[in-house]
Amino acid sequence: MTIKRLDADSEQYLSLVVDAQNCIINVSNSWEPLAVQGGAGDSLQANKILGLPLKDFIQSDITWMAVETALKLCRLKRQPLSKPYRCDSPTHQRFMQMDLIPLQPFSTGLVKMQHGLLKEEPFKKPLYIQDMTASQGKTSLPHLILRCSFCNSLKNPKLGFWQTPEIFEHNQTIEQPLQVVHTVCPSCKEARWG
Ligand SMILES: [Zn+2]
Repeated sequence: MTIKRLDADSEQYLSLVVDAQNCIINVSNSWEPLAVQGGAGDSLQANKILGLPLKDFIQSDITWMAVETALKLCRLKRQPLSKPYRCDSPTHQRFMQMDLIPLQPFSTGLVKMQHGLLKEEPFKKPLYIQDMTASQGKTSLPHLILRCSFCNSLKNPKLGFWQTPEIFEHNQTIEQPLQVVHTVCPSCKEARWG
């Protein structure tokens, strides 16, 4: 998820509020410093993202569908939902949590989305990723590695199974990163939001 990389190096919660149409109507104070840290200072200044659909910040359609379904469920149940996920940096495994909190009065359909860093652990070997998700559809990219937006597991289409980033065999460098297309792996598709 594009939005996730904005959390880089912060233990603060990054939060935003979406309206019933899932457009961003508010962002936390920490948003702008985080956007700058994440290298997205120009495109993601708070005043430029207000009013925009949250979908615009999530490149993978499949990932968006999973988030949209959770937002619907949160409004329907009128109770908070949360999901652990990974937002690895090239050097660290980063264990995150996403919370969806319906705001009162519930009839407005407003939902607050928070992202927080729970803990991080260094990788034995750095893992440089290049996100090719936006190129998908323009050209066929069946040879690319798939990466799960939620658990960051990877699937080499030649091998046909999912592996955690810690054990994934790869040959990449900062100059030649691993090119991936984001999706949602079967276990994360099945996992319920708690
Ligand atoms: Zn997954």
